Amino acid sequence: MDNKENSRVTRRDFMRQSAIVAAGLGSAFAGATGQAGLTAGQEAELLQVPKRKLGKTGEKVSCLGLGTMFNLVDSQIVLRNTLKWGVTYWDTSHSYAGGNSELGIGKFLARNPKVRKDLFIVSKASGARTVADVEKRLATSLKRMNIDYIDMYYAPHGASDPAQLTDELKQWAEGAKKRKLIRFFGFSTHSNMAKCLAAAAKLDWIDAVMPMYNFRHVQDDELQNAIEACHKAGIAIVAMKTTGKTTIKRFRLSIETEADKKLVGHFLKQGFTPEQAAIKLVLQDKRISAAPVQMENVAVLNQNVAAVLGKPNLTQADREVLKEYAEATCSGYCAGCAHICDAAVPDVLRPGRISDIMRYLMYYNSYGDKARARELFAQIPHSVRGRLTSMDYVFAEARCPQHLPIGRLVVEAVSKLA
Ligand code: SF4
Repeated sequence: MDNKENSRVTRRDFMRQSAIVAAGLGSAFAGATGQAGLTAGQEAELLQVPKRKLGKTGEKVSCLGLGTMFNLVDSQIVLRNTLKWGVTYWDTSHSYAGGNSELGIGKFLARNPKVRKDLFIVSKASGARTVADVEKRLATSLKRMNIDYIDMYYAPHGASDPAQLTDELKQWAEGAKKRKLIRFFGFSTHSNMAKCLAAAAKLDWIDAVMPMYNFRHVQDDELQNAIEACHKAGIAIVAMKTTGKTTIKRFRLSIETEADKKLVGHFLKQGFTPEQAAIKLVLQDKRISAAPVQMENVAVLNQNVAAVLGKPNLTQADREVLKEYAEATCSGYCAGCAHICDAAVPDVLRPGRISDIMRYLMYYNSYGDKARARELFAQIPHSVRGRLTSMDYVFAEARCPQHLPIGRLVVEAVSKLA
């Protein structure tokens, strides 16, 4: 069988398996619970995504959350279906889908006001540079979503330096809680995550941190230590980018390499997809309170719910396969360790500019979110954008632990995003 044929068969098998995994959820549980002689109420509870403690806040949230970096105004059916499975952690941001993520939540709540009390709504102060910016964005988000308060508010959205966690921000967060505009406060981080988390663990005003965390990060000792420090301090960890670029690109299966085939083949035999395995891996870590995952349609939602409810834990062999895949494909994934490449690039690219550009390119290539990728890229000062392709990245490439071809990727980013 040639490679093309091999790939076709794998794809067909994969799609069939995915459908079975998703469709089999309800009947599998109905059968199991029926035999155990449980009541209808107990059965219904078993079909709900479990809740976990959110650090020391006293709150419990659904461990699988809905990531909403897409237009929810046109996808109300996804919101409705999350409720069926108890996926009540909804994660949005000021910038997602140009505001149409928050507006979609507002539209849903205008029609279903009683649902608000069951939800845990999270938003973020995207692009805010000052506390005044944070205040403005919070006001806009509340208005768009047609709500009086946000359960968790993240600012900065994408911290890359502990110095961003200022006393001024602390005072603002405490004031916003007193005004009952937010219940809890934290920040998200895509780069220099270990340093930001370690700093948060020493602060008494951070309720949660949202770092990138997936099978590509589990070997990172510095990040693991920082997560542990937060966990011990009662700061909730909410994982983002949980599937970590496996075989789904732009929400379609894409088997391009031998490593992809090996990954898909292994997990097909276990009865789940690589993306389901990646979610399982993160949620098997009980320090993680929740993992909001981008779920643009009901099929993906059902598959992810199945990952949480429907199968046993990953084995050591499964973990090894994910680890091997991470190693084989590391040059296609920026791990956000910006302090490493920052030390080898000109001042104008610090802090975290290269890591940011790699992420914008991921939004474009893997998520297919071209508008957001271009919008974020456009926020880089014009004087820096104009020089990106003429800078030398040889030393940064030599330092990069993921072996990213940084120079080539910067050129690709400029050609696609500028
Ligand atoms: S480009 Fe390399 S060194 Fe820089 S943040 Fe990404 S993975 Fe780390």
